[in-house]
Amino acid sequence: MDFEFSSEQKLLQENIYEASKSLNQDLSFEDKWKFMADTGVIGTCIDTENGGLGLGALEMIIALEAMAKGSSDNGLSFAIAAHTLSCVIPINKYGTANQKQQYLPSLLDGKMIAANAMTESESGSDVFHLQCKAIKKESNYLLNGTKTFISNSKASSLVLTYAETNPDKGFFGGLSAFIVEKNQYKVGSTFKKMGLENCSLGEIIFEETYLSESNLLGKEGGGAFIFNHSMEWERICLAGIHLGAMQRVLNKTIEFVKQRKSLGQSIGKFQGVSHSIADMVTSLDVARNYAYRAAWCLDNKKNVSKEAAITKLFVSNSVKTFMLQAMQIFGGYGYISEYGIEQEVRDAMAATIYSGTSEIQKNIIVSNLGI
Ligand SMILES: Cc1cc2nc3c(=O)[nH]c(=O)nc-3n(C[C@H](O)[C@H](O)[C@H](O)COP(=O)(O)OP(=O)(O)OC[C@H]3O[C@@H](n4cnc5c(N)ncnc54)[C@H](O)[C@@H]3O)c2cc1C
Repeated sequence: MDFEFSSEQKLLQENIYEASKSLNQDLSFEDKWKFMADTGVIGTCIDTENGGLGLGALEMIIALEAMAKGSSDNGLSFAIAAHTLSCVIPINKYGTANQKQQYLPSLLDGKMIAANAMTESESGSDVFHLQCKAIKKESNYLLNGTKTFISNSKASSLVLTYAETNPDKGFFGGLSAFIVEKNQYKVGSTFKKMGLENCSLGEIIFEETYLSESNLLGKEGGGAFIFNHSMEWERICLAGIHLGAMQRVLNKTIEFVKQRKSLGQSIGKFQGVSHSIADMVTSLDVARNYAYRAAWCLDNKKNVSKEAAITKLFVSNSVKTFMLQAMQIFGGYGYISEYGIEQEVRDAMAATIYSGTSEIQKNIIVSNLGI
């Protein structure tokens, strides 16, 4: 097994890291998005004939990690990752030639921002228990329903959504995925939240929305399958943004403990402090290695249901604990906004909730063991 990055992977990492450092300037959300789209990060694992780099899940993690290591705008990193992993990748994989031609260029170059709209008020963890219905009328569908907790809701110009198309068939066979353009949905409430500021979170409303068969992604009835597949990508590759943030904060923490003094010596000389740093490095290294391995499994067409759940569970828990440890080491400076650590804590807190909560990941892990 070769654990060395190839020269292509190193170049990708370096280019995206260098570019993303510019995001720390005072730029608008739109300018930041366009700037990162120009680096090619969104198209990392999109087929070359569709305008992407044609790389795999491992390179997707490397790219997202480099972006989040360079930039402290975790909201933007999360927004770009959600757009890429749960919208652009499924359209690249399941879209018709026409759909790919119509949407992928604008989704890759930053003209269009996509939102993945699955969750409803009564279906969060119980993800396929949808009230949203797309009723077939001849060759059209009439879509009605409200989605909630949708990342990129306000910024979106396209939504990939899921609705019941056949109540007699259950999840697999009864739900379908649809690509819906901006003029066909309304953005409802946008929620105030504790972190991830540059990623809007809110409702997407479909009211008597007429869709044609050209809006259907994949086959009618294939929605649950497409969603599960997109979640496996998301649960594995989203690790990249957490790993990048942890590395950036680790570097900052090491600098801090070297220069901050107490009792006449730098605080890094106190074992109580240095052992916390040892714990942080250990969790980052283990999280990174597991995520890379899970991405390798995905690239090698293995069944990754368990690996995706383990990655999501471990990395999301790790990033929360890690940021709290950093805050403790920074003392009072960790609590005030100026040093940026309190923002890292707030941004990390949703990690064990989105893309399926930790409890749901544990359910998936044990179901893979036949329990
Ligand atoms: C920042 C953020 C971004 C998000 N982005 C998106 C997005 O882009 N698109 C989208 O569709 N959704 C998105 N979501 C929604 C997210 O996927 C749901 O919040 C999540 O799946 C949990 O659903 P819920 O909030 O309804 O909680 P609930 O399902 O009501 O769960 C409440 C609690 O009960 C536990 N629980 C529920 N069922 C079980 C069970 N069977 N076994 C064990 N424990 C259980 C949960 O783990 C949790 O602790 C986002 C959420 C957040 C916070």
